[in-house]
Amino acid sequence: MRLFYFFVFILLFLSSCNLASNNNSQTNSREEQEEISQNIFSDSMTEFTVNVIYETGAEPYTGNIGITANDTWDITKRSYEELFSTHTGRTITVPNSLTDMTEIPDQGKSTWSSEELLSLGESLSTALISNNKVTVNIILLEGKYNGSNSILGVHFTGSHFAFVFKDIVESVGGDGVTQRYVEQGTIVHEIGHLIGLVNNGVPMSTNHEDSTHPKHTSNDEGVMYWAVESSDNILTSISDIIVGNQLQLFGAQSLADGQAYHP
Ligand SMILES: [Zn+2]
Repeated sequence: MRLFYFFVFILLFLSSCNLASNNNSQTNSREEQEEISQNIFSDSMTEFTVNVIYETGAEPYTGNIGITANDTWDITKRSYEELFSTHTGRTITVPNSLTDMTEIPDQGKSTWSSEELLSLGESLSTALISNNKVTVNIILLEGKYNGSNSILGVHFTGSHFAFVFKDIVESVGGDGVTQRYVEQGTIVHEIGHLIGLVNNGVPMSTNHEDSTHPKHTSNDEGVMYWAVESSDNILTSISDIIVGNQLQLFGAQSLADGQAYHP
Protein backbone atom coordinates (compact mmCIF):
# COMPACT_ATOMS: atom_id res chain seq x y z
CA MET A 1 0.00 0.00 0.00
CA ARG A 2 2.80 2.33 0.87
CA LEU A 3 4.38 1.97 -2.54
CA PHE A 4 1.12 2.75 -4.23
CA TYR A 5 0.71 5.94 -2.29
CA PHE A 6 4.19 7.08 -3.04
CA PHE A 7 3.68 6.35 -6.70
CA VAL A 8 0.62 8.55 -6.76
CA PHE A 9 2.57 11.25 -5.01
CA ILE A 10 5.34 11.27 -7.59
CA LEU A 11 2.84 11.72 -10.39
CA LEU A 12 1.12 14.57 -8.64
CA PHE A 13 4.13 16.47 -7.67
CA LEU A 14 6.09 16.01 -10.79
CA SER A 15 3.24 17.14 -12.98
CA SER A 16 2.52 20.03 -10.70
CA CYS A 17 5.74 21.94 -10.66
CA ASN A 18 5.98 21.94 -14.38
CA LEU A 19 2.59 23.54 -14.64
CA ALA A 20 3.59 26.04 -12.05
CA SER A 21 6.88 26.98 -13.61
CA ASN A 22 5.18 27.55 -16.94
CA ASN A 23 2.89 30.07 -15.34
CA ASN A 24 5.73 32.36 -14.49
CA SER A 25 5.91 35.19 -17.00
CA GLN A 26 8.50 37.42 -15.38
CA THR A 27 10.63 38.64 -18.25
CA ASN A 28 13.87 38.84 -16.32
CA SER A 29 13.32 35.69 -14.33
CA ARG A 30 15.86 33.59 -16.22
CA GLU A 31 18.69 36.07 -15.58
CA GLU A 32 17.62 36.44 -11.96
CA GLN A 33 17.54 32.69 -11.60
CA GLU A 34 21.04 32.32 -13.03
CA GLU A 35 22.30 34.96 -10.61
CA ILE A 36 20.68 33.12 -7.68
CA SER A 37 22.37 29.89 -8.75
CA GLN A 38 25.76 31.59 -9.12
CA ASN A 39 25.47 33.05 -5.64
CA ILE A 40 24.36 29.78 -4.07
CA PHE A 41 27.11 27.70 -5.66
CA SER A 42 29.92 30.20 -5.15
CA ASP A 43 32.83 28.69 -3.25
CA SER A 44 32.90 31.79 -1.06
CA MET A 45 29.72 30.56 0.66
CA THR A 46 30.43 28.58 3.80
CA GLU A 47 26.87 27.89 4.95
CA PHE A 48 23.69 26.74 3.23
CA THR A 49 20.63 27.16 5.45
CA VAL A 50 17.05 26.13 4.87
CA ASN A 51 14.68 28.59 6.56
CA VAL A 52 11.33 26.91 7.21
CA ILE A 53 8.19 29.02 7.54
CA TYR A 54 4.76 27.46 8.15
CA GLU A 55 1.21 28.70 8.45
CA THR A 56 -0.67 27.62 11.56
CA GLY A 57 -2.38 24.39 10.55
CA ALA A 58 0.27 23.59 7.95
CA GLU A 59 2.99 22.42 10.31
CA PRO A 60 5.58 20.20 8.63
CA TYR A 61 6.20 16.66 9.86
CA THR A 62 9.02 16.25 12.33
CA GLY A 63 10.43 13.39 14.39
CA ASN A 64 11.73 10.00 13.39
CA ILE A 65 10.86 8.39 10.09
CA GLY A 66 8.89 5.35 11.22
CA ILE A 67 10.96 3.07 13.41
CA THR A 68 14.28 4.17 11.99
CA ALA A 69 16.74 6.34 13.87
CA ASN A 70 16.63 8.86 11.04
CA ASP A 71 14.94 12.19 11.55
CA THR A 72 12.38 13.35 8.98
CA TRP A 73 14.44 16.41 8.07
CA ASP A 74 17.54 14.28 7.55
CA ILE A 75 16.08 13.68 4.09
CA THR A 76 16.50 17.33 3.10
CA LYS A 77 19.76 17.68 5.02
CA ARG A 78 21.46 14.61 3.54
CA SER A 79 20.26 15.40 0.04
CA TYR A 80 21.86 18.85 0.13
CA GLU A 81 24.96 17.69 1.98
CA GLU A 82 25.58 15.33 -0.92
CA LEU A 83 24.75 17.92 -3.56
CA PHE A 84 27.29 20.34 -2.04
CA SER A 85 29.84 17.69 -1.13
CA THR A 86 32.53 19.25 -3.32
CA HIS A 87 31.89 22.72 -1.91
CA THR A 88 34.54 22.20 0.68
CA GLY A 89 33.92 23.57 4.13
CA ARG A 90 30.25 24.31 3.54
CA THR A 91 27.86 23.58 6.40
CA ILE A 92 24.30 22.51 5.60
CA THR A 93 21.85 23.70 8.25
CA VAL A 94 18.30 22.33 8.26
CA PRO A 95 15.96 22.72 11.25
CA ASN A 96 14.29 19.57 12.54
CA SER A 97 11.91 20.88 15.19
CA LEU A 98 9.05 23.38 14.99
CA THR A 99 10.76 25.58 17.58
CA ASP A 100 13.53 26.23 15.06
CA MET A 101 11.03 27.19 12.36
CA THR A 102 8.88 30.30 11.94
CA GLU A 103 5.11 30.08 12.43
CA ILE A 104 2.81 32.60 10.74
CA PRO A 105 -0.91 33.02 11.53
CA ASP A 106 -3.66 31.21 9.66
CA GLN A 107 -4.03 33.10 6.37
CA GLY A 108 -7.64 31.95 5.89
CA LYS A 109 -7.17 31.20 2.20
CA SER A 110 -8.52 28.19 0.32
CA THR A 111 -6.62 29.01 -2.87
CA TRP A 112 -3.58 31.09 -3.81
CA SER A 113 -2.74 32.91 -7.03
CA SER A 114 0.83 33.27 -8.29
CA GLU A 115 0.77 36.97 -7.46
CA GLU A 116 -0.37 36.30 -3.91
CA LEU A 117 2.35 33.71 -3.40
CA LEU A 118 5.06 35.96 -4.80
CA SER A 119 3.92 38.79 -2.54
CA LEU A 120 3.85 36.52 0.52
CA GLY A 121 7.22 35.04 -0.30
CA GLU A 122 8.82 38.46 -0.70
CA SER A 123 7.41 39.62 2.62
CA LEU A 124 8.39 36.54 4.63
CA SER A 125 11.65 35.29 3.24
CA THR A 126 15.12 35.88 4.59
CA ALA A 127 17.69 37.49 2.27
CA LEU A 128 19.43 35.02 -0.01
CA ILE A 129 22.93 36.12 0.95
CA SER A 130 24.23 37.39 4.27
CA ASN A 131 28.01 37.55 4.54
CA ASN A 132 29.09 34.05 3.51
CA LYS A 133 25.78 32.42 4.31
CA VAL A 134 23.14 31.37 1.79
CA THR A 135 19.55 31.04 3.00
CA VAL A 136 16.74 29.48 1.00
CA ASN A 137 13.16 29.68 2.21
CA ILE A 138 10.52 26.95 2.18
CA ILE A 139 6.99 28.07 3.07
CA LEU A 140 4.26 25.56 4.00
CA LEU A 141 0.70 26.77 3.50
CA GLU A 142 -2.88 25.61 3.78
CA GLY A 143 -5.01 25.90 0.66
CA LYS A 144 -4.39 25.14 -2.98
CA TYR A 145 -2.37 26.69 -5.76
CA ASN A 146 -4.77 28.14 -8.35
CA GLY A 147 -7.46 25.79 -7.06
CA SER A 148 -5.49 22.70 -8.06
CA ASN A 149 -6.14 19.46 -6.18
CA SER A 150 -2.83 17.99 -7.33
CA ILE A 151 -0.08 20.61 -7.04
CA LEU A 152 2.07 19.78 -4.04
CA GLY A 153 4.63 22.53 -4.38
CA VAL A 154 5.75 25.42 -6.52
CA HIS A 155 8.83 27.55 -7.15
CA PHE A 156 8.72 30.66 -9.30
CA THR A 157 11.81 31.08 -11.45
CA GLY A 158 14.05 33.83 -10.15
CA SER A 159 12.88 33.71 -6.53
CA HIS A 160 14.68 32.43 -3.43
CA PHE A 161 11.61 30.92 -1.79
CA ALA A 162 9.35 27.99 -2.62
CA PHE A 163 6.00 26.72 -1.38
CA VAL A 164 4.53 23.43 -0.19
CA PHE A 165 0.76 22.95 0.00
CA LYS A 166 0.06 20.92 3.13
CA ASP A 167 -3.55 20.10 2.28
CA ILE A 168 -2.37 18.44 -0.92
CA VAL A 169 0.39 16.56 0.92
CA GLU A 170 -2.23 15.22 3.32
CA SER A 171 -4.64 14.38 0.50
CA VAL A 172 -2.12 11.86 -0.82
CA GLY A 173 -2.72 9.79 2.32
CA GLY A 174 -0.64 6.82 3.38
CA ASP A 175 1.02 6.03 6.68
CA GLY A 176 3.35 8.29 8.62
CA VAL A 177 6.40 7.18 6.71
CA THR A 178 4.70 7.76 3.36
CA GLN A 179 3.48 11.19 4.41
CA ARG A 180 6.94 12.18 5.54
CA TYR A 181 8.42 11.08 2.22
CA VAL A 182 5.72 12.97 0.31
CA GLU A 183 6.45 16.18 2.20
CA GLN A 184 10.23 15.90 2.27
CA GLY A 185 10.33 14.82 -1.36
CA THR A 186 8.35 17.91 -2.31
CA ILE A 187 10.68 20.11 -0.27
CA VAL A 188 13.85 18.64 -1.78
CA HIS A 189 12.34 18.95 -5.26
CA GLU A 190 11.24 22.58 -4.88
CA ILE A 191 14.55 23.67 -3.34
CA GLY A 192 16.16 21.85 -6.26
CA HIS A 193 14.32 24.21 -8.62
CA LEU A 194 15.22 27.17 -6.42
CA ILE A 195 18.95 26.52 -6.56
CA GLY A 196 18.81 25.92 -10.32
CA LEU A 197 19.02 22.18 -10.95
CA VAL A 198 18.29 20.68 -14.38
CA ASN A 199 19.08 23.63 -16.63
CA ASN A 200 17.43 26.21 -14.38
CA GLY A 201 20.64 28.14 -13.64
CA VAL A 202 23.09 25.32 -12.94
CA PRO A 203 24.81 24.04 -16.11
CA MET A 204 24.23 20.38 -16.91
CA SER A 205 27.33 18.17 -17.10
CA THR A 206 25.41 15.90 -19.41
CA ASN A 207 22.06 16.68 -21.00
CA HIS A 208 19.43 15.09 -18.77
CA GLU A 209 16.62 17.59 -19.13
CA ASP A 210 13.25 16.28 -20.26
CA SER A 211 12.54 18.42 -23.33
CA THR A 212 8.79 18.12 -22.91
CA HIS A 213 8.94 18.90 -19.17
CA PRO A 214 11.66 21.56 -18.77
CA LYS A 215 13.73 21.74 -15.56
CA HIS A 216 13.05 18.08 -14.82
CA THR A 217 15.21 15.05 -15.51
CA SER A 218 14.59 12.71 -18.40
CA ASN A 219 15.55 9.68 -16.30
CA ASP A 220 13.83 8.18 -13.29
CA GLU A 221 16.79 8.06 -10.93
CA GLY A 222 16.03 10.91 -8.62
CA VAL A 223 13.63 13.40 -7.17
CA MET A 224 13.88 15.87 -10.06
CA TYR A 225 12.21 13.35 -12.39
CA TRP A 226 9.07 14.03 -14.38
CA ALA A 227 7.28 11.07 -15.91
CA VAL A 228 3.64 10.28 -16.20
CA GLU A 229 3.97 7.34 -18.50
CA SER A 230 6.91 5.28 -17.23
CA SER A 231 5.09 3.69 -14.34
CA ASP A 232 7.19 0.54 -14.17
CA ASN A 233 10.39 2.52 -13.82
CA ILE A 234 8.89 4.88 -11.27
CA LEU A 235 7.68 2.04 -9.09
CA THR A 236 11.11 0.48 -9.12
CA SER A 237 12.65 3.78 -8.08
CA ILE A 238 10.15 4.35 -5.31
CA SER A 239 10.64 0.89 -3.93
CA ASP A 240 14.34 1.52 -3.57
CA ILE A 241 13.78 4.82 -1.78
CA ILE A 242 11.42 3.46 0.86
CA VAL A 243 12.72 -0.05 1.37
CA GLY A 244 16.22 1.34 1.64
CA ASN A 245 15.16 4.18 3.96
CA GLN A 246 16.83 6.44 1.45
CA LEU A 247 17.72 9.91 2.69
CA GLN A 248 19.59 11.33 -0.31
CA LEU A 249 16.94 11.72 -3.02
CA PHE A 250 18.85 13.18 -5.98
CA GLY A 251 19.79 11.17 -9.03
CA ALA A 252 23.39 10.80 -10.14
CA GLN A 253 23.22 13.40 -12.91
CA SER A 254 21.69 16.10 -10.71
CA LEU A 255 24.34 15.38 -8.09
CA ALA A 256 27.06 15.58 -10.73
CA ASP A 257 25.77 18.96 -11.88
CA GLY A 258 25.72 20.41 -8.40
CA GLN A 259 29.11 18.99 -7.48
CA ALA A 260 30.69 20.30 -10.70
CA TYR A 261 29.34 23.84 -10.47
CA HIS A 262 31.81 26.28 -8.92
CA PRO A 263 31.02 29.64 -10.55
ZN1 LIG B 1 9.26 20.42 -10.52
